Amino acid sequence: MAAFDYVKPPSLESLINDYAQAKSEGAILAGGTDLLVKIRSGLVSRRVLFDINDLHEMKGISDEGDSLRIGAATRICDVADSNVVQSTVPFLSLAASQLGSPQIRNRATVGGNIVSASPAADTVLPLIAMGARLRFGSQGGNREVSIEKFMEGPGQTDIREDEVLIGVVVPKLSNGCKSHFIKVGRRKAVAISVVNIAGWIKTDRTGVIEDVRLVLGAVAPTAIRAGETETFLRGKRPNEVVLKEAARITAGQSSPISDIRGTQKGRRLLVEAWTFRLLQILMTQNEAN
Ligand SMILES: Cc1cc2nc3c(=O)[nH]c(=O)nc-3n(C[C@H](O)[C@H](O)[C@H](O)COP(=O)(O)OP(=O)(O)OC[C@H]3O[C@@H](n4cnc5c(N)ncnc54)[C@H](O)[C@@H]3O)c2cc1C
Repeated sequence: MAAFDYVKPPSLESLINDYAQAKSEGAILAGGTDLLVKIRSGLVSRRVLFDINDLHEMKGISDEGDSLRIGAATRICDVADSNVVQSTVPFLSLAASQLGSPQIRNRATVGGNIVSASPAADTVLPLIAMGARLRFGSQGGNREVSIEKFMEGPGQTDIREDEVLIGVVVPKLSNGCKSHFIKVGRRKAVAISVVNIAGWIKTDRTGVIEDVRLVLGAVAPTAIRAGETETFLRGKRPNEVVLKEAARITAGQSSPISDIRGTQKGRRLLVEAWTFRLLQILMTQNEAN
């Protein structure tokens, strides 16, 4: 493994200044579950790593009324276990609880999951479904961008060289919404998703769908919203025929590749089958689960 310097900045201000000076030779070290693997295997080399784990401005979950603020260096296990996340954005907690293994969840952070930009990143799906916004800091000032616009391709994002992700602002689900997350892997634990799906739905008093969001992972260069399915479902009264058609439309919007975890054809079939299942669960579960 190539040698690097290790720096633990005493404050967010000094992180931003020192990181900007290091330019492309520096990297942010959060949990290290992606970065250190890449450094070890020679895929990435950096002269200096900036450890953000003690910066209180980048840690924790706070309730800001209609939204939650989650610090970028908040551990995945803390998102999974948080009462406020479980009660206001339950499918984010569900996605976090299925990421990796207990050991990975105890180290990995939300910010690392976002910035590494894997198309299969589990927490990214509910964050896109909620219209979450990312807050960045740099010497030039702060910037906010929607997570959907931030993701550009596998490992590719809109992050600038001197920017640090400080936190994520996540709107809470509104009253009467139901949400769910499904992860399909090659085994039940410590498996990167072959396909993952997150969604929420809101019906009116008569059972007609008022609004819905559906996000697919691992079946395109980034996680994607199934916009055609959302349009198809709005205003419909769900029954088996409607949900099956919605699942068929969803599979058509995916553009998966074949890789070691699954074939293109297999992934499309999984999208159809598991979208149907997710919609069935949304229609039959109690509110906000
Ligand atoms: C065995 C194993 C299993 C895994 N299983 C899953 C899984 O099931 N689902 C899943 O989604 N992922 C999985 N992963 C991938 C990884 O654990 C997650 O993506 C994790 O959330 C990364 O977070 P981290 O804090 O460890 O990031 P790090 O490795 O510290 O950083 C990742 C990248 O983001 C950058 N970065 C981190 N924080 C910031 C910030 N605040 N500002 C700017 N840049 C930043 C780093 O410089 C680096 O480029 C797995 C990894 C391993 C090794």
